[in-house]
Amino acid sequence: MPKEARKPSTYVDFKEVKAAVTIEAVLERYELLDDLEPKDDGYTGDCPFHEGESERPFHVSLSKNAWYCFGCEEGGNVLDFVAQMEDVSIKGAAQLLAEWFEVESTRKGSKRRRGKPKAVEADPEGSEPESEALSGSQEAEAERPEPTEKASDADPGAPEFSNRPLGFSLKNLDPGHEMLEPLGFDRATVEHFEAGYCGNGMMKGRLAIPIHSFNGELLAYAGRALDGDAGYKYPPKFDRSLELYNLHRAIEPAQAEGLMLVSDVLEVWRLSVAGHANAVALMGDEMSAEQEALLTSFAGESARVLVLWPETAGRDAIVARLVSQVYVQTMELEEFLA
Ligand SMILES: [Zn+2]
Repeated sequence: MPKEARKPSTYVDFKEVKAAVTIEAVLERYELLDDLEPKDDGYTGDCPFHEGESERPFHVSLSKNAWYCFGCEEGGNVLDFVAQMEDVSIKGAAQLLAEWFEVESTRKGSKRRRGKPKAVEADPEGSEPESEALSGSQEAEAERPEPTEKASDADPGAPEFSNRPLGFSLKNLDPGHEMLEPLGFDRATVEHFEAGYCGNGMMKGRLAIPIHSFNGELLAYAGRALDGDAGYKYPPKFDRSLELYNLHRAIEPAQAEGLMLVSDVLEVWRLSVAGHANAVALMGDEMSAEQEALLTSFAGESARVLVLWPETAGRDAIVARLVSQVYVQTMELEEFLA
C-alpha cells in the first residue's frame, strides 16, 4: 500500500485561506444555502453533520465568518467546517479550500497551472460547485488543449507531471457498503484498490477511488456515481489526462507481460478480478501525449501494450500513435474476458 503523501510543496497558509473564503461561499459550494434561513447576520437551520431532534440547531455568522451547532456542540471557521464535511485534517481542509477557491499564497512565488487562467478571487460567484463529471472525452476536450508539440517532443522517459500530491486521504471509506453491490465486485477487490463508499463531503454517495501517480503518490479521488449514470466526479484541479489509473500497481507485472490499456477505471478492476494485474485506464476516451509517454515508458521489457477497446476510430487513433514505439495488440474487453 502506498504511503500517504505529505509534501512540504503543498504549503497552504491557514490564515490566508480563512481570510479569503467566506463561510457563505463554502455553504453555497455544498449547496446547503437553500436549506438555511436568513437570521441575524447569517443563517440558521438543520445541521449538515447530525440528524437531531432540536429545532434549527445550526447557526452561521457572516460577520464572524463562523458556524456553530448546538446539537453537535461543534463549530468554528471555514477550515473546521470543511474538515468536518470531508473528514480530513485542518491542513487537508485548507488545501481543499485553497484549491476550490483558488487562494494563492502571497508568501511564496505561486506557480499557476498551465492552461487554467482564472481570476484569483474568493467570491461566491466564482465558486460554483464542480459539475457532475461528464464521462470521458467531452470534459477532457473542454478542459485541455490539444496535445502540444512541446509534449510530444519531450523525452518519453521524462513525461511532464503537474498533478500535485493530495497530502491527505479520505477516512472512513466503506468497502463493504450495500450501495456498491450492484457493481459486482467483492469486498476484497474494493479493498485492494483502497476504495470505498463515501458517506460525506464532495464524494458523498459515490464510490471513492484513489488515483495515484506512477510512483504511488496519492493525487486525487475519482467519485464513481452509483445511481446508474456511471459517471465520475474528479476534483476540479486534477488533470486526469496526465495520469494512467493503476499504473503504480501495474508497473511490476508489466515487466514480464506488458501493459493492458482500457478506458474506464472499473475495467481495470474487472481485469484484476480475472487475474490481470497489469491493466491501466485512461479515465476517458482519448490518450494525451503524457499518457502516451507513460504507456511506452512502462510497457516492460517486452514493450507490449494490449489495447482492450471497442473497434472505433478512437481506438485506431490510439493504436496508430503507439505502434511505432511498442508492440500493440487489440481486442474488445468483453471478448478478452469471455
Ligand atoms: Zn450538529
